Amino acid sequence: MSVDIANNLKNIRDQIESSRVESLMASENVSLIAVSKTKPVEDVLSAYEAGHRVFGENKVQEAQKKFKDIGPKRDAIELHLIGPLQTNKAKEAVETFDVIQTVDRPKLVNALSKEIKKQGKSPELYIQVNTGEEPQKAGVLPSGLKDLIALCHEQNLRITGLMCIPPVDEEPSLHFSFLSKLAKENGLPNLSMGMSSDFDLAVRFGATHVRVGSGIFGTRDYSNLG
Ligand SMILES: *Cc1c(COP(=O)(O)O)cnc(C)c1O
Repeated sequence: MSVDIANNLKNIRDQIESSRVESLMASENVSLIAVSKTKPVEDVLSAYEAGHRVFGENKVQEAQKKFKDIGPKRDAIELHLIGPLQTNKAKEAVETFDVIQTVDRPKLVNALSKEIKKQGKSPELYIQVNTGEEPQKAGVLPSGLKDLIALCHEQNLRITGLMCIPPVDEEPSLHFSFLSKLAKENGLPNLSMGMSSDFDLAVRFGATHVRVGSGIFGTRDYSNLG
């Protein structure tokens, strides 16, 4: 029953590489973000022992605790926030993450900007785009993207990429190619897209970062999380 994290990592890296070499649109380098949300620190350590250094979490407090618990190894890790961020958690988010992928509104840009200056840090920021224009989903609408990027530039923030989560019932490739086009138009080099079920497709459309959770750590159990 136990999950072989090292073996899963190897298989996914191999699949990324084979998708990459098959597509002219693929990025030269694809970073695999191991999404460890709901999983214990022991799983992060297993991935670390297998040589993995890039992780993603969707909740600020959970990440704060987990990545404090791994001690000095934290310094070698690149930690991404991939879940929605409330402005009142901007301080903790800037303290905890190297990359914040879910910037999606002016109020959040302003809150992050204030904390980044106060803490003297310079996390990389990506803008989350609601490519499917779903009312319940986080992310800026495509029509609002240019203005949000301009605001980030005004505040001298390190805005380097875009991320999206396609609607569950739509063909993801349409959203991946759309996000890729938006990134090009806006001169942003990083593209975070693709999860366990579709990371290989995302790689074909130029993803520089894929976010894989269950494919590495096994299915998630939310029942014991209080
Ligand atoms: C949980 C999560 C993932 C990983 O999902 P899997 O299907 O387990 O690979 C990727 N991106 C975001 C934003 C997530 O919240």
